[in-house]
Amino acid sequence: MKNMIFKTLGMLVELDRIKKAQSIILKILKEKGRDKLYDLSGLSGGFLIKREDKDLLNTYICSAYFSEKVKELGLKHLGGEECVGFNRTSSAILSTILTLKPKKVVHYLPELPGHPSILRSCKLVNAEYFESNNINEILKRIDKDTLTIITGATMDLKVIDLNNFKIVIKKAKEENSIIFVDDASGARVRLLYNQPRALDLGADLVVTSTDKLMDGPRGGLLSGKKELVEKIYETGLKYGLEAQPPILAGMYRALENFSLERLKKAFERAKNIDLSKLDELNIKYEKTPTGFVIKKIVDNDEENLKKLVNTALYLLEYYGIITITALGAPGASKSLRIDLTSKDAERLDDEYIVNAVYESIIKVR
Ligand SMILES: *Cc1c(COP(=O)(O)O)cnc(C)c1O
Repeated sequence: MKNMIFKTLGMLVELDRIKKAQSIILKILKEKGRDKLYDLSGLSGGFLIKREDKDLLNTYICSAYFSEKVKELGLKHLGGEECVGFNRTSSAILSTILTLKPKKVVHYLPELPGHPSILRSCKLVNAEYFESNNINEILKRIDKDTLTIITGATMDLKVIDLNNFKIVIKKAKEENSIIFVDDASGARVRLLYNQPRALDLGADLVVTSTDKLMDGPRGGLLSGKKELVEKIYETGLKYGLEAQPPILAGMYRALENFSLERLKKAFERAKNIDLSKLDELNIKYEKTPTGFVIKKIVDNDEENLKKLVNTALYLLEYYGIITITALGAPGASKSLRIDLTSKDAERLDDEYIVNAVYESIIKVR
């Protein structure tokens, strides 16, 4: 009971953080305008629909028309036999686990932690859950009662080792375990490392986010074996998890506009960005494929998380920089990540960004 209250309190603190960040955004919008906000969260949330799309925004017509379009381009993007839209990646994950009702879920990922929606979904169906970046620990736990989940790139954009990816898939296939790949950003980040698509590697199902490294609305695109995708979609419809027609329209246009070339430019920029100024701070940071991530400002984990959040809020208030750490859903981030793939990033130079992070850390610490 005591534990539960503490957990609820934790959630409240998270909601307070989101409300505070939102109020800062509103203040900047009102006093300085949209131009002084820079979304470097990596979730750019575009909505590129066209005039003619708007005329189709009627529940059934729109859904018939854009489901077909999303399927056509989604299959090109992800491969597979059937492809459908969900309201979020988390919704597709939830729907998959509710449908498959696995006894056990074994989750291999390049670095902990996994996305919290996976553990939460497992709890709802009483599935035993194990996640690890240790491949041997994973391999010995996969059997026919297991749903095997593989994360292609983590929330911090740590990319899976291709060889390990193949080894886990091989083992799961031998054991007749269904393979589901959480490729929220991985479906595109992994392309930068010339990795094949998850379904081409032998996965049964893959989900990606149309909001990550592409200019779409927050939405989850699920593709894979027809029979599985159809069942999972049906569950989604029952619980209201499926993408609504306007979101489908946005997903379609995002897929249509997706440019690997633009992504490669951000990739090059991230490779070359000079972060040496941060070395003076004695913090733990790393480059990511599309930017960089601050992992530790102080040693104590709890204290660190608080400081990271405060740094993110400071970055927002004084530099207009939006991050997941400031605005993400509860549990979404335990680090501070700067992403250079958004259009907003093109309006800032490297020095401004690095200096803003540097100054914010000094102020908060
Ligand atoms: C972002 C992300 C998700 C969840 O996406 P939502 O759109 O927030 O539901 C799941 N898994 C990974 C690895 C992610 O990066």
